Amino acid sequence: MKKLYSGKAKTVYDAGNDEVLIVYRDDITAFDSQKHDVIKGKGFYNCNISSRFFKYLEHNGIKTHFIRQEDDVSIRAKKVNIIPLEVIVRNIAAGSITRNYPIKEKTVFDKPIVMFDYKDDEYHDPLLNEDIAVAMGITTLDEMQRIRKISLEINNFLQVFLSKYDILLPDFKLEFGKTSKGELILADEISPDTCRFWDKKTMKSLDKDNYRFDKGDVLSSYKIIYDIVREGIDG
Ligand code: 5GP
Repeated sequence: MKKLYSGKAKTVYDAGNDEVLIVYRDDITAFDSQKHDVIKGKGFYNCNISSRFFKYLEHNGIKTHFIRQEDDVSIRAKKVNIIPLEVIVRNIAAGSITRNYPIKEKTVFDKPIVMFDYKDDEYHDPLLNEDIAVAMGITTLDEMQRIRKISLEINNFLQVFLSKYDILLPDFKLEFGKTSKGELILADEISPDTCRFWDKKTMKSLDKDNYRFDKGDVLSSYKIIYDIVREGIDG
């Protein structure tokens, strides 16, 4: 199979028929790849967690690129042109919003905040808004509004599921793409690499912050999320 793209943690192959095979590797990076390691087993957890979240969202009517999980570390997905936007939804303040604005960590927002970053390492993923995205020609105003609406729906669905297991969802990042037929769908992954998950009782991180800030064991925290989605969402 022809390799189309190799990102920081996933490799994408052309599977023909407007489909791709996405292989989750064990690489883990942070801070624009200044920090990089390989953690054996991480690809397995992210593939299995992301597949189940996509299944759950599809079941709830969200259109995604997910077709099926192929093996322990790979999924078959619809081929899309990724829109170079990182859509970040925030429910509780953590990470960059507490560094860039006078907002204290753990502040619970009355309503979710949706932010957009321009996905580009060279520019260090700068913040953008609807007008800049349209001016750059990466999307239309209508698409931006649909992306915002779908992202908030996804936020609701994820929170409904996680709350049953006493897991908080402070924030997460989504990416969208367009199929050859022009359909706007959710792409990329939903995993502890792209979401913050906090144990509601202990407030401990169960996500990549364990790696970013050496807060705790990465694999065992990913396994907690894996066990939850395995129990709650049919594999
Ligand atoms: P922050 O703004 O604190 O860097 O990130 C907010 C949320 O979006 C976190 O859940 C974080 O994991 C996710 N996120 C933001 N940017 C990226 C990125 O470039 N890569 C990944 N994997 N996640 C990101």
